[in-house]
Amino acid sequence: MFLLKADQELKPQLEVERDTTDMLIGNSFIGFLMTMFAFSGLLFFFESDPLVFAQKFQIWILMMSVSIVRLIDAIYWRINLSGTAYYPRPALIRFSIGLYITAIIWGAYSILFYSTMTTIELAATMVVLSAMSGGAGTVLAPSKNLVGFYSSALLIPMSLCAIFDENGEFFVLGILGLIFWFGIFTSAFRYHRFFISTVHLKAKNNKLIEQMKIERNETEKVNKLLTVSNQKLDESNLNLEAKVERRTAELYRLSNRDPLTDLPNRNGFLKYLNDLLDTSRVHENSLAVLFIDLDGFKQVNDSLGHKIGDIVLVEIAKRLRNYTGDNHLGRWGGDEFVAVVPYANIDAAKAVALAMRSGVTIPIIADDNQVTLDATIGIAMYPSHGETAHDLIQHADLTMYDQKRKQRGSVSVFNEALLSEIRQEQKLCERLRTAIVNGEFTVFYQPIINASNQSLSGVEALLRWKCDDEYVSPTVFIPLAERSGLMPEIGEWVLNRALIDLSQWQFNHEISMSVNVSVTQLSDDNFSNVLDRALKTTQVAPEQLHLEITESAFTIDRKLISKRVNELVERKVKISIDDFGTGYSSLSRLQSMPFDFIKIDRSFIQNRTEESDTIIRATILMAKEFGCKTIAEGIETAEHETHVAMLGADYLQGFHFAKPMNANNFISWYNENY
Ligand code: C2E
Ligand code: MG
Ligand code: MG
Repeated sequence: MFLLKADQELKPQLEVERDTTDMLIGNSFIGFLMTMFAFSGLLFFFESDPLVFAQKFQIWILMMSVSIVRLIDAIYWRINLSGTAYYPRPALIRFSIGLYITAIIWGAYSILFYSTMTTIELAATMVVLSAMSGGAGTVLAPSKNLVGFYSSALLIPMSLCAIFDENGEFFVLGILGLIFWFGIFTSAFRYHRFFISTVHLKAKNNKLIEQMKIERNETEKVNKLLTVSNQKLDESNLNLEAKVERRTAELYRLSNRDPLTDLPNRNGFLKYLNDLLDTSRVHENSLAVLFIDLDGFKQVNDSLGHKIGDIVLVEIAKRLRNYTGDNHLGRWGGDEFVAVVPYANIDAAKAVALAMRSGVTIPIIADDNQVTLDATIGIAMYPSHGETAHDLIQHADLTMYDQKRKQRGSVSVFNEALLSEIRQEQKLCERLRTAIVNGEFTVFYQPIINASNQSLSGVEALLRWKCDDEYVSPTVFIPLAERSGLMPEIGEWVLNRALIDLSQWQFNHEISMSVNVSVTQLSDDNFSNVLDRALKTTQVAPEQLHLEITESAFTIDRKLISKRVNELVERKVKISIDDFGTGYSSLSRLQSMPFDFIKIDRSFIQNRTEESDTIIRATILMAKEFGCKTIAEGIETAEHETHVAMLGADYLQGFHFAKPMNANNFISWYNENY
């Protein structure tokens, strides 16, 4: 670092010296020639005595030799050194020595031969010396020493000789010579100062220029680096932009498409639907929204697995797509699809829905399994059934849902009555939430009679809800409670109430208590705990408790239901299969379940045909095979009683014996009859 600094400081000094040398040698060529000519002229032009001439000639030889050597040295400088960054000191020393010798020769010449000169020769010599030192005043100005020595050596000896000449005739010439010397001397010194400052300035300039060059190089380097890194940045920006674009497209796809069926998902479909609604609003077109729900898909998923379920969904999506425009069909979730039919009136919408249904019903082969499904479709029309995408989809969904309860595998169009029905249902649901707290529930009991001896075998607990002084049928509020998630809580209340009542009754013999349990109760993980608690607090023997599970429950989630049933068996609680004959369960499925009772649905007893008799007989036979007892429901008349008893039913239940009664009435009934 220090070396570098020192070097940088030395550099301008060296440059000054080099510039001085360049100026001195570069301008000296004419001087050499002048010296040679002038010296030769003084020797050969004026006649001299042979002895003096011989002496002069020797000095001439010396002067010529020195001048030639100096000339050669100057030529060497011009060829090899000039214009290069040479080290100037040796050249300067050589030049100075040459100059000193030349000056000494001139000084010696003027002193030695002053006395031999004629007046004219003396004057000529004086002129020559003055001219030579005058020329040197500018040429040698870069060096103060050289110019001082040269002009002094040339003018002072001759001038002093003239002043102190005995004749006194050259006194003025001598004085003039000294004045001239003084003039040359001072102007040479001034010129020297000027030269030095110019050279310094030049050196500084050079330094600055060099600095600038370095800085420019640096800047260029940095610029180059910047350009390269800018290019790289541009490239990576481009890559990044492309990546971001790809990701955005991917994200858009992910957030708007269903990955399984590649149909628009809820988000995506809503966007398309909103766009179509905007256009319909402007052009005052109608439009239909279809809500499609597959019937039987859950069973496919449960029994054949999700892999087959997925294959089926993809196939169904493909089929439904045939009846809609691009992006006019979406997957709403699970086995639900939504479709929009622009410009459609009700008839056209129905036609599309029916076509979709028939498309869905064509059997699907998935991994060697043949699957046959159906679809229930609800339709809502724009603008008559709703103005917004949300309303239209909701209304189509409600229509589908309602239709599913009434008749699966069909098509239905939204109507205002349905909406008010739904609103009514919503209100009822709100009331249902507070029914327990408000003490609006009562449990009624209906006797179950032993067919062989007419004794009371047990009772079935049937829930009653008095809402605004009116009884609401359990067939209305139980499904509502199931849909709104209230069933586990209500079911727990019924179970506790029934077991408390049973534990307080004092009869001649033990009777059983049948309590209905719905699917949502069974699916609830807390169910076993609820049961254990109820049995524990009431101290009712588990065998006395019969839980009635509707047959249709077994078509829903077989695995979970059989798990629950096994838990009940472990606790020694008895299980009845309720409404048997209406739930389409396969015999093989029932065979694997450990039931204790089968309750034959009242429709078989009340609508008596040969066919229903066959079913009753077969059920009783099958129950015997499985080791179960049968209970015939809906015995309204004595005729029903004798007929069913004749067919072989073990227990009987119906209005013929007693209608469902509250606990007090039931006790009175018991006391009256037994
Ligand atoms: P279910 O379990 O099959 O109950 C028997 C239904 O048949 C009762 O209707 C009962 O009043 C009626 N019934 C009995 N004998 C006769 C008869 O001779 N003729 C006619 N026409 N009907 C008769 P209810 O009380 O209206 O209950 C309807 C259904 O509501 C029940 O059918 C049961 O599935 C459900 N349910 C009632 N209470 C509860 C409950 O606490 N929990 C659950 N999960 N479901 C309940
Ligand atoms: Mg029942
Ligand atoms: Mg029943």
